[in-house]
Amino acid sequence: MTPKYEGGCLCGAVRYSCSDEPVATVNCHCRDCQRTSGGPYIAGFVVPARAFSTTGEVAWYATTADSGRRSERAFCPICGSSLFGRPEAGGVLFVHATTLDDPSWFKPAIDIYTSSAQPWDVMDPAVTKFEKMPPMDAG
Ligand SMILES: [Zn+2]
Ligand SMILES: [Zn+2]
Repeated sequence: MTPKYEGGCLCGAVRYSCSDEPVATVNCHCRDCQRTSGGPYIAGFVVPARAFSTTGEVAWYATTADSGRRSERAFCPICGSSLFGRPEAGGVLFVHATTLDDPSWFKPAIDIYTSSAQPWDVMDPAVTKFEKMPPMDAG
């Protein structure tokens, strides 16, 4: 287990670890990510679900994205920290990088849903941008 990929919620009731390298690193600027995180976007990484494990109980909230696809978001039922999400189809998880014990290694490869980014949101011009969802399974 790589400690690099361990994290948890604010109160510590939920802990998680990933046994695999992320397959993608993403900043998602969609409105759902803004609302659930309280920030202008969610910085997150995609890992295979089989490489991800949690301790403690998480609560799930299901939404329908503007793509029409259903997805679920996990949060701590005690402190409310938004931790990770998964598409209805499963297979992968989108883990919020700021919930890592050490989020400093995170480096976004792409910005997605930039069409709903706030005018005061500051983005790195060097990072590849997609107005909506790129042709891959993330966010
Ligand atoms: Zn908590
Ligand atoms: Zn999003």
